[in-house]
Amino acid sequence: MRGLARIDQDVMDWVEKDKPECGPYDAIVKPIALAPCTSDVHIVWGNAYMSDAPNRILGHESTGIVEEVGSHVKDFKPGDRVIVPAITPDWLTVPGQKGFGQHCYGMGTGMSFITFKDGTFAEHFNVNQADGNLAHLPDEVSVDQAVMISDMMTTGFYGAELAEIKPGETVAVFGIGPVGLMGVAGAHFMGASRILAVGSRPVSVKVAKEYGASDIVDYHDGDTVQQIMDLTDGEGVDKVVVAGGNANTVGEALEVLKVGGILGNVNHYDGAAEIPLPALAWGAGLADKTIRGGVCPGGRARMEQLVKLVQYGRFDSSKLITHRFTNFDDIYEAMIIMRDKPRDLIKPAVILE
Ligand code: NDP
Ligand code: ZN
Repeated sequence: MRGLARIDQDVMDWVEKDKPECGPYDAIVKPIALAPCTSDVHIVWGNAYMSDAPNRILGHESTGIVEEVGSHVKDFKPGDRVIVPAITPDWLTVPGQKGFGQHCYGMGTGMSFITFKDGTFAEHFNVNQADGNLAHLPDEVSVDQAVMISDMMTTGFYGAELAEIKPGETVAVFGIGPVGLMGVAGAHFMGASRILAVGSRPVSVKVAKEYGASDIVDYHDGDTVQQIMDLTDGEGVDKVVVAGGNANTVGEALEVLKVGGILGNVNHYDGAAEIPLPALAWGAGLADKTIRGGVCPGGRARMEQLVKLVQYGRFDSSKLITHRFTNFDDIYEAMIIMRDKPRDLIKPAVILE
């Protein structure tokens, strides 16, 4: 079979491999939709690859059709349409049992794709512990919508969950790429009254407003902190979601956060040696401000719960797709677009049916 692989640092190309084996608890899935993630870009052209295996097939955002299941799989059968969560942990680990499957073998290792085995940019791929790591795709949910749930929706919403947003609170979301836009939507669903979204791409600004942003802050238009303080009459915000920016963004987010606030970070500071924190913004350590950051939890239960928001018409996750491709080989171009981030991009996707 064919797959698009990280050949080595900074080198991406096609490889030919045998179809993966199906263990007793696994499934083999054929993709019907694929999307590249900024994390795939970090894995090829950044510092995010956590293995030393060469020729590893990329990809962790997908929707597909089950082709084969292992003898111990109970709830899935060949022909089932599924969303494949980006994070497919080994749930039989102690961190998994404590609710942190996304870190089952150490930080971030719940992303079994690429970390431990080939990813989803292949004609067939293996999903470990299928009963725990596949999610049924309801008929009412389109393939476009489904593939945007597999990582973007669960990650962006997780940022809002980390920040523990409460009804009526004012929230700032730093970054409105696909992850931040889902952070905006998550904040909106959790009841935020005002959502100040930080970003500049016009396509993202439009979707941010549709997903619930009340104010847009362009970080090119001067100091982001000052702009947010001005918009909130000098008060700042109750909660922050960080889904973009650089190592200094955490400090900026801390500066606009009120005392008692929570910062929920899902941004990856790839390559940063330090994340500087302005001491005064943290009350020299005494401001009762909480900084949290994490990888979205994976697995089936969360995915089948999130998909209901789309299934019952409460939310359209497909608004993120700005670049749509229809051939399997187009995943190469989609990766290049994701790396280069043209101004008209939110998210590319390859939809195969
Ligand atoms: P994008 O690059 O598409 O979006 C980044 C956003 O940040 C853009 O809106 C950009 O603005 C904005 N931005 C850039 N610089 C600044 C700045 N100085 N201050 C404020 N905002 C700024 O990224 P994605 O949405 O695809 O991904 C976001 C992050 O999430 C990545 O680091 C990715 O690796 C990570 N991620 C984390 C996961 C997890 O589980 N924790 C899972 C998946 C992804 P502009 O509009 O101008 O472009
Ligand atoms: Zn991802």
